[in-house]
Amino acid sequence: MNLRLDKLLANTGFGSRKDVKQLIKKKQVKVNEVIVKKADITVNPEVDIITCKGEKVEYQEFIYFMLHKPPGYLSATEDAMQKTVLDLLEEKDKLLNPFPAGRLDKDTEGLLLITNDGQLAHDLLSPKKHVRKKYYAKIEGLVTKADIDEFKKGVDIGGYVTKPSDLIILSGDTISEIEVTITEGKFHQVKKMFEAVDKKVIYLKRLSMGSLTLDENLPKGKYRQLTNDELDSLK
Ligand code: URA
Repeated sequence: MNLRLDKLLANTGFGSRKDVKQLIKKKQVKVNEVIVKKADITVNPEVDIITCKGEKVEYQEFIYFMLHKPPGYLSATEDAMQKTVLDLLEEKDKLLNPFPAGRLDKDTEGLLLITNDGQLAHDLLSPKKHVRKKYYAKIEGLVTKADIDEFKKGVDIGGYVTKPSDLIILSGDTISEIEVTITEGKFHQVKKMFEAVDKKVIYLKRLSMGSLTLDENLPKGKYRQLTNDELDSLK
């Protein structure tokens, strides 16, 4: 893995790229014991020993962020016209090419894992792993016990019958509040499941994915690193 030295140092907490240039000018940075003269050289942090002000630079290969996705953002890394969830990340947190592990619709809110760990993302999203995803939703119309039974059996969402899912009714009137847990990730799945029972999702928020639960102290649009415990329980 080759990275620009100034970017790497800025990313590991040694200040801005300008600060890093100053440190290099002051001969404070060494790569494999050799004083660095230029900020734009490339290094391989997996093999090169980098020190700054005598301190070994610890490099993190993988990054894991919990994002509280707000509505209005695409779950993608880039888009010519629309904002993506990566627009919510600070520049320094984008250096290691993170991507959203899975997709929430543009209008869906809630838990989204942003990482550059392809293996973990694959494991979480693989249909074979049946990772449970829990959503809170507001539904136009009265959700009933019959809907709970339908969801338990599986509903036809246009040529595909969903796996059994757990539906809990929190409140019901002209607008119902529910929680639903699914083990798949078909496109627009929750919305299509309610369409299949003649109802409309008007608000959708993901609360959890596997062992990872949305930190309710995290404001919409904000993100934080996963704790070690959160990461261990996901792997
Ligand atoms: N199901 C949906 O319909 N939309 C989402 O964003 C996630 C699950």
